[in-house]
Amino acid sequence: MLVSRRWWVSIPFILALAALFLMVWSGILALTYPHDGILTFGPTGLISELDSFGREHNKLLDGDVIVSVNDVPFNEAVPFYANKKIGETVKFIILRDGERIPLTILLMAPPRGLILNELVPLLVALAFWGIGVGVLSFKPSDRTSNLFFLFCQATALLLASGLMSGIGPRWTSGLFNFLLWLIGPLTVHFHLYFPEAISLHRRRVMLYVLYGLAFLCGSPYLIWGTQAVLASSWSDRILAAVRLFLTGNLLLAVGLLFFAFSHTVSPGVRGKIRIVVLGGALSLLPVITLTILPDAALRQPILPYTFAFLFLSILPLTYGYAIIRHRLIEIERHVNRGATYILVYAILCGIYLVLYAILEKLVPPHLFDSLLINTLLVLILASVFSPLHQRMQRLVDKAFYGSWYDYRSAVTQITQGMEQIPELPQLARTVGERVVKTLQIEDACIFLRDLEGDFSVIEVAPQPKVGEQSRLAFSALPKNSLSYLLNIGAVGRTSLRKTLSEVMLSPEERQLLDSEQVYQWVPVIGHGQVLGLLALGAKLGGDIFSGEDMDILRIVARQMGPLIENIHLVTRLRQYATELEQRVEQRTAELHAAKERVEAVLSSVGDGVFVTDLEGEIITVNQAFEEQSGYQAVEMIGQSLFMMLDGQENQERTAEIRSALASKFSWSGELMAHRKNGREYDIQLTLAPVRNLLGEIMGYVGSQRDVTQYKELERLKDQFILEVSHELRTPVTNMGLFAELLERGRPDRKAEYLATLKTEINKLMKMIEDILDLSRLEVGKYKRSSFSPVNLNLLTDQVVAAHAPLAQVAGLDLTFEPAANLPKINGDQNQLARVITNLVSNAIRYTMSGSVCVSTFPADGGVWLEVKDTGIGIDADDFPHLFDRFYRGRKVSQSKIQGSGLGLAIVKEIVDLHDGRIAWESEVGKGSTFRVWLPE
Ligand code: ADP
Repeated sequence: MLVSRRWWVSIPFILALAALFLMVWSGILALTYPHDGILTFGPTGLISELDSFGREHNKLLDGDVIVSVNDVPFNEAVPFYANKKIGETVKFIILRDGERIPLTILLMAPPRGLILNELVPLLVALAFWGIGVGVLSFKPSDRTSNLFFLFCQATALLLASGLMSGIGPRWTSGLFNFLLWLIGPLTVHFHLYFPEAISLHRRRVMLYVLYGLAFLCGSPYLIWGTQAVLASSWSDRILAAVRLFLTGNLLLAVGLLFFAFSHTVSPGVRGKIRIVVLGGALSLLPVITLTILPDAALRQPILPYTFAFLFLSILPLTYGYAIIRHRLIEIERHVNRGATYILVYAILCGIYLVLYAILEKLVPPHLFDSLLINTLLVLILASVFSPLHQRMQRLVDKAFYGSWYDYRSAVTQITQGMEQIPELPQLARTVGERVVKTLQIEDACIFLRDLEGDFSVIEVAPQPKVGEQSRLAFSALPKNSLSYLLNIGAVGRTSLRKTLSEVMLSPEERQLLDSEQVYQWVPVIGHGQVLGLLALGAKLGGDIFSGEDMDILRIVARQMGPLIENIHLVTRLRQYATELEQRVEQRTAELHAAKERVEAVLSSVGDGVFVTDLEGEIITVNQAFEEQSGYQAVEMIGQSLFMMLDGQENQERTAEIRSALASKFSWSGELMAHRKNGREYDIQLTLAPVRNLLGEIMGYVGSQRDVTQYKELERLKDQFILEVSHELRTPVTNMGLFAELLERGRPDRKAEYLATLKTEINKLMKMIEDILDLSRLEVGKYKRSSFSPVNLNLLTDQVVAAHAPLAQVAGLDLTFEPAANLPKINGDQNQLARVITNLVSNAIRYTMSGSVCVSTFPADGGVWLEVKDTGIGIDADDFPHLFDRFYRGRKVSQSKIQGSGLGLAIVKEIVDLHDGRIAWESEVGKGSTFRVWLPE
C-alpha cells in the first residue's frame, strides 16, 4: 500500500520508542542513583524534606539552603552526582541561619522505600504508554485514537522526565516542565474529539491559543533550562501560571465531556462518557478513602500517597477502554465486576474510617481499643456489604449499559401490548428484544411452535446486523423436541445438562443444548405441551440470573402461552377463511361461466325460452322470446304464462297445460299466442319441469317456436292444391268432352273437335308448365349464381319479333323502341325472356285494337322495360290481386280471352329474384302500361 510507505506513519512508533527509552533510562537511574538523604529541595536550593533514617541524617537539616556542591554553585550543580558512585563523598556548602557551613556527605545506595516511591510514577507512566500503544494498535487510526495516543505518550514522557528531572541530565527537567505546559492543551484537544467530535464555534482558534500559550511558556524551559527559568525573579509567578493553566485545561476537558453528554443523541456516546466518569471515580475514590481520609482521620494514610497515585492509571485505562470498547466484549464482564468491587471496598473503607474517627472522639480511650468496638465496626460493615454491592452493581451496570431495570415494572415493560401482536415471528422478536433490554442480557433466542407443531419460528435478539451472524444461530426443532422441559421448567445451563445426560436427544436439540452461549432455558408451557422456549445468553454484567430475573421470566413465559395459542387459533381461522374465500371465488367463477354459457346458448337459440316457477309465473326469458312476443323481459317477469295464452281458441289447451303442470308432467303442443301489439301468432310450445339436485321440481322451462310462417305456408299449399286442381279440372273436362264428341259426334265436325281438343291440350300444357315454373321459382330452384350479363335490348327485340305474327293476326301495331347505350343487366336470360314474353303476350291479348309499344330506358342505376298497350285496361278492384296466382281480372275471366292467371305471378317471382321492381298504370277502356325495373 502506498499510504503505509509514507514516512510519517512511523512517527508514533518512534515516539513510543523514545518514551519507552526514557522510561527505562529513568528506571535504571532510580535504581542506581546515589542517595544523599535529601528527599526534596526547592529551586533556590532550600531543603524541605530529608530521609531521616539515613546514616548522615544528622548532618543536613530541614531549612538548610544548598550553596554549592563539590564547589560547583547550586544553579549549575544539578544533577549533583552525575559522575559519582555509591561510597564516595561529596562536599556541600550550605547556608544555615545565615552561616555558610561546609559539610562532607557519604553517598549511599538508594533505600528501598525511595526506589519504590520513584518506581510507582514510572509504573503509571508505563500504564499510560501501554494503553496509548494498545489503543493505536487495536483501533483503526483516526483522529480520536491518534490524539489519545499522543496524550498517553506525552503523559508517560511527563512522568518519566519528572522522575529524572533531579537526577538525570538537565534537559529532562526542561522536558518535564515543557510537557507540563503541553499536556493541558493536548487533553482539551483530545476531548474535542472524544467521545465524538464536538463542533464548537471557534474550536480552531481556541486550540491555537492554548497550544500557542503552551509553546510560548514551555519552550524557555527547553531552550534555557529549568534552573535558568526558575532563577529569574518571575519564578513564583511562572509556577502559579503553570498550575493555573493545567487546572484550567483540565476543567475545560471536563466541561467538554459534560457538553458532549448533554448534547449527544447517541446512547453510545453517553455510555463512553459514563465509563470515563466511572474511571474517574475509580481512580480518585481509593486516593480519597485510603490516603487522604485516613491521613486526616488517623494522621497516617493507609495507602502511602505514592501508591494511591497508582490508581490514577485507571483513568487512561477507562479512556482506552471507552475508545476500543466494542472490541473487548469478553473482558467487559470482568471489568464490570472488578469495577464494582473496587467501588464497594473503597466505600467500605471510607465508612470504616469515618466511623472510626467518630467513635474515637465519642468513646473513652480505655474502651476504644476493646475487641467489642472493632467487632461492632466489622458487623456494621458486613451488614452494609450486600445492599451496597447490589447498588454499586446497578450503578456500574448503568455506567456500562445505560440503564438498570426496576423489577416491578420489568414485567410490564416486557409484556405490554403483547396481546395485540398478530403473528408468531413478531411475538418472538418483541419478547426477545424486550427481555434482552430489560433484563440486561447479552442475547437471546426465542423458539415458538408453529401451526404444524415444529419449533420453526426462531428469532434472535438483538437482531444481528446485516452480513453478521448471530452467536445464537440454531436450526428448527422437530415436533417432539423439548418435552422434557415440561417437568423441569425454567432451568440453568449446567443443571439442564446434568438432568439430560441420560436422555436421547435429536441432533438439533443436541446442538442447542451444547451451545456455550445459552445460560438459561425458560420453557413456555400451555395445555400440557411446550409451546416455546426462551434460550437466554449471559447477563451483561456477568452476573448470574437472580431470583427476581427468574420470576420475571416465569411470568413472561406464562403470559406467552395463551398468546401463542391465540395466534395459532387466529392463523388457523384465517387460513380457513382464505380457503373458503378461494373456494367461493372459484365456485362463483364456475357458476358465472356456466351462467354465461347458458345465457349464450339461450340467447343464440332461435326458440323462445322462458322459465317459470311452480305457479307458472315467469322468472326469466331469453332474447328470442322477447322478439317473438314483442314484450321486454322486465314486462314479462312476474307475469303468468297463461296471460299470453288466454284466447278463446286456447281454452282447451290451457286446461291441458294446467293439469300437466299440476301433475308435474311435460307438455307439448301447438297454441295461438298474442303479441304485445295484439296480433296472434302460432307457437309450438314445450313445457318441461326443472328439477334440483334432490329431484324436486323447482319450476318449468318452456320453449316455444313461432310456427306462424309454416302454418301460413301450409295454408297456402292447401289453397294452391285446391286452386290447381280446380283450374286443371276445366281443361281436362273440356278435353274429355271433345274426346267424347270425336268418338260419337258428327263426323263432319271431327276436324273442329280435334282442333278444340288440341287447343285444350295446349292450354293444359301451358298451365302445367306455368305451375311447374312457378313452384320451381317458389322453392328457389333458380339461383342468382346462374346470372350473367344480359343485353336487354337484344332479348326484347327477339321476344317482340317472335310475337310479331300474333300481333299481326290481332291487327295490332307492335313496336319496340330500344334505348341507346343501355347498360347490361345481371340476370338469367331465359327467366328475363319469360318476363318480357308474359308482359307482351298480356298486352296483345288484352288489346282489341290499337298498338302495343315496347321500350327500354336506363334509370336509377338499372334498366326499365316498358310495355304499353291501348287495350281494355284493368279495373281498380283488381289491382291488389293482379299478382296472385290463378287470379284473373273479374271481367276478363268472364270474357273469351283465355288465360291461367299465372302470367303476372310468374313475372313477379322472376323480378323479385332479380331484386327488381314492377310498376303499372291502367285505365279501363284506354290501356295499360306495365314497367319492370331491373338493376345493373
Ligand atoms: P291471364 O292473363 O292468364 O289471365 P295474368 O296473370 O297474365 O293471367 O293476368 C292477370 C289478369 O291481369 C288478367 O286476367 C287481366 O285481367 C289482367 N291483365 C293483365 N295484363 C293486362 C293487360 N295488358 N291489359 C288488361 N288487363 C290485363
